[in-house]
Order: sequence, then C-alpha cells, then structure tokens
Amino acid sequence: MSAVPYRRVLVKVSGEALMGPDAFGLHPPTVTRIAADLADARALGVELAVVVGGGNIFRGVQGAAKGLDRATADQLGMLATVMNALALEAAIEAAGTPARTMSAVAMPTVCEPYSRQKALSHLAKGRVVLLAGGTGNPFFTTDTGGALRAAELGCGALLKATNVDGVYSSDPKADPAAVRYERLTHSEAIDRQLGVMDAAAFALARESRMPIIVFSIQEPGAVTAVLRGEGRATLVTA
Ligand code: UDP
Repeated sequence: MSAVPYRRVLVKVSGEALMGPDAFGLHPPTVTRIAADLADARALGVELAVVVGGGNIFRGVQGAAKGLDRATADQLGMLATVMNALALEAAIEAAGTPARTMSAVAMPTVCEPYSRQKALSHLAKGRVVLLAGGTGNPFFTTDTGGALRAAELGCGALLKATNVDGVYSSDPKADPAAVRYERLTHSEAIDRQLGVMDAAAFALARESRMPIIVFSIQEPGAVTAVLRGEGRATLVTA
C-alpha cells in the first residue's frame, strides 16, 4: 500500500531548479539530487509524472525582448525543456528507476511524442514520465503545461517545486515584510496576483479542482516529505 494519500501526482520542476548554483544550464550534481528525490518519491508507490521547465536555458519572453519573433522564441524555449527532460530522465534511470520522456513537440528520434494514453500506460507500469515541450504551443508556460497534464492524467495533486518554502504575499527575497500563506484558494491566488504560477495555470487548476502544493526543492528529500504530508509547503485548493 502507498504511504502517501495520492495514487498519481505531477511534479513541476522549473529549469532554474536544475541550474543549482550556476547562472545557466544544467548543474550535474543538482540534477542527480533532484532525480534521486523523484526516484524516492516513485518508490513510495505513487505514480509520478514530471513536467520540466526550460528557464535555465532559454525563455521566450527574454528572446523576444532581444528582437526574436515571440512564437519562434517560445519554440526555442520548448526545445530547452526537452534538453532538461532528457538530462533528468538519464539521471532517474541512473538512480535505478525506469523513466520515459514524452514531448509535446514531436521529435521521435529523441523521445516519444506525447500521447495521453501512452503516458497513462507508462505510469501504470511504474515508470516516471517526464513531460517535455510544455503545452506544445507558444505563449504558454510549463506551469500551465503542468496544470494541463495534471488534469488530463487524472493526478491527485500538482506539486509545484520552487526555490522557496511556499507562497508569499510578495517576493520574500526582495520584501522582508512578505507574509507566507499556509493555505490559499485558487481564486485568492489569482485575485492577489501571486507570482508563484501564472494566472492561466491557476485558472486551469481551479477549473479542474486540482490541489497545488507549493514547496522548495532545495532540500534533499523534499518531494517525498511533501508527499507524506511532512514537508513545509503552501496548499492551494478549490
Ligand atoms: N514554452 C512555450 N509553451 C509552453 C511551455 C513553455 O512556449 O507551453 C516556452 C516559453 O518560451 C518559456 C520556455 O518554454 O519561456 C521555458 O518554459 P518556462 O519558462 O515555463 O520554464 P521554467 O520557468 O519552469 O524553467
């Protein structure tokens, strides 16, 4: 029997989390640590889907600010998420847990194209499924991709891994008066314009009544702690 109250969850890992102390790209020891954490979470008996961001390599908004057409810049961003997913897949497999990358942007010689049925089949076989390419469309983020995939794969919760231990009223690194929330509703998060996820992601989660657990991935074992209900986190519910 699973030690956690969920049969299936989706973890959203930002590209920045994979950067570790570096200013750009992948920091191999950090990738290995997060992969081990995800493999340990899978070992608790929960089916695990992971949406990976790309901000450590390329963000569409930044590319557009430098003169690239926004849709093209976003395509570069989506490709960056595939790089991250492949690195994480390799590290999860190295930790002894089977994993598969599926991309919303088809590149069949590199990884499987995303299909809901195939993803569910991988999950049922105990594989960690890494979902790359976000939604597959420009003008979206991987947070929205995470909310979308969590809903369509019937996940019990969306675990949003960040660099801080929950949702704050403002950026706690910039504002010493920032207040940390224990619990929030999706509507409160949208109305208060809390920047932890974009409004489209919160709106999608609200529509599907998907609980979101916001936690820090900086500490080893953070994912397993949150799944057991032991970690420090903010719970966003309907
Ligand atoms: N992106 C996109 N459509 C999506 C998801 C992502 O166009 O559905 C692009 C977008 O340019 C974004 C980049 O991929 O800036 C990287 O994703 P994101 O910023 O969400 O990564 P994270 O902040 O999680 O590292």
